[in-house]
Amino acid sequence: MAKLQTPHIAILPSPGMGHLIPLVQFARSLVHQHNFIVTFVIPTNDSPSKAQKSVLDSLPTSITHIFLHPADLSDLPLDSKIETVISLTLARSLSFLRDAFKSMVDKTNLVALVVDLFGTDAFDVAREFNVSPYIFFPATAMTLSLFLYLPKLDQMVPCEYRDRPELVRIPGCKPIHGKELLDPTQDRKNDAYKWLLHHTKRYRLAEGIMVNSFVDLEAGAIKALQEKEPGKPPVYPVGPLVNIDPSKVDDGSDCLKWLDDQPHGSVLYVSFGSGGTLSYNQIHELALGLEMSEQRFLWVVRSPNDAVANATYFSVESEKDPFDFLPKGFLERTKGRGLVVASWAPQAQVLSHGSTGGFLTHCGWNSTLESVVNGVPLIAWPLYAEQKMNALMLIEDIKVELRPKPNENGLVCQDEIAKAVKVLMEGEEGKGVRNRMKHLKEAASKLLGENGCSTKALSQVASKWRNQTAI
Ligand code: UDP
Repeated sequence: MAKLQTPHIAILPSPGMGHLIPLVQFARSLVHQHNFIVTFVIPTNDSPSKAQKSVLDSLPTSITHIFLHPADLSDLPLDSKIETVISLTLARSLSFLRDAFKSMVDKTNLVALVVDLFGTDAFDVAREFNVSPYIFFPATAMTLSLFLYLPKLDQMVPCEYRDRPELVRIPGCKPIHGKELLDPTQDRKNDAYKWLLHHTKRYRLAEGIMVNSFVDLEAGAIKALQEKEPGKPPVYPVGPLVNIDPSKVDDGSDCLKWLDDQPHGSVLYVSFGSGGTLSYNQIHELALGLEMSEQRFLWVVRSPNDAVANATYFSVESEKDPFDFLPKGFLERTKGRGLVVASWAPQAQVLSHGSTGGFLTHCGWNSTLESVVNGVPLIAWPLYAEQKMNALMLIEDIKVELRPKPNENGLVCQDEIAKAVKVLMEGEEGKGVRNRMKHLKEAASKLLGENGCSTKALSQVASKWRNQTAI
């Protein structure tokens, strides 16, 4: 049988909805703008989540997917960090990946493999089949700049980064204290750091890196990333690629209907991404703070978790009966003015809805970009991963975010929350934040237009792939 000649791209997402969603948008762009075909090859350590399946099933026919045989992680300690779980899932899936490659290469013109943050071990398989390895970086240019710099930083600094008085100088970025760096760098003895370092050393093996950001957001970091240096792959800013065609993975229509009945720009959307969870006490403070603010709100609630801040990272679903953990009488007292939904909302539609006027977010990069393209101003509540770095950049560099301060025990108290919500939704300071966000929205829309820089950056990558002959 003759081999299909259309350029074919394999995309390997790390587990987690926050990784899958921007890659899906990337795949859509490749298919719609460049007529490629795409296959998602998905490593797992469990059965796929409902949310994941629903997103993949909703894709056009030129984007297919294969779930690899689940990797066995039964020997992993229960307290293993996300980065370790993700990296080991892939490392133990390489033989399954090899089988998938064999079958794709036999039938199609497979030209490139695209992995995300922690997928670099798959490069070896790509190389075996003469397929070019690439990275799609779904976080900030600042984080990417840190990743490329980390192997050097690791050699220069003998102690924990958080214990150093000197600031860390990430190329192209404002100096930052070591304790603000992403989670896996906070304990260099932990396997999560070792895995991070392992991957960042392998970033230079990529033939190119697409970063989901844009120059109006991160001019300094992008300029530094694009400076030529021996052994450094070319970096293409292709962002903001966001969730604009969300699947119906929930009963979210109720909350959209509710939004239809609210005044324009009046509702604060509150959500901590796909994995974020709060402690019991923190949920209480947040509920009472929202109530005290007297503003309208739509809150995606997950049951409390006092141990970790990313308890639903791999599953999305909340564990307990919804809402019995909220303060007594809260739902009745805020009825009409507030709506609470369990676990998941159709966020892309919520943020593009005219009634949504603000977003209290954990500062996950997808959520941030979705807010930017819709011009919705933010309240920052970073929880884990690189979210503190994102919050810092959004507050200090581009000033589109407010941040309620935690007390000495790390708890953000109700009056602090109420104050931030009021200021964002109706105060003078909030007006500045709203205006700056509007400008960013306009800039983002130009970038993604026919002659926009992000569209051109993607075309550059696509033409490299088109000119590549598979062997
Ligand atoms: N999301 C959603 N509904 C929810 C929570 C999250 O649609 O209730 C989507 C959101 O629109 C975004 C992604 O899940 O595209 C979350 O990615 P992000 O980088 O913000 O955070 P993460 O989940 O990776 O921490």
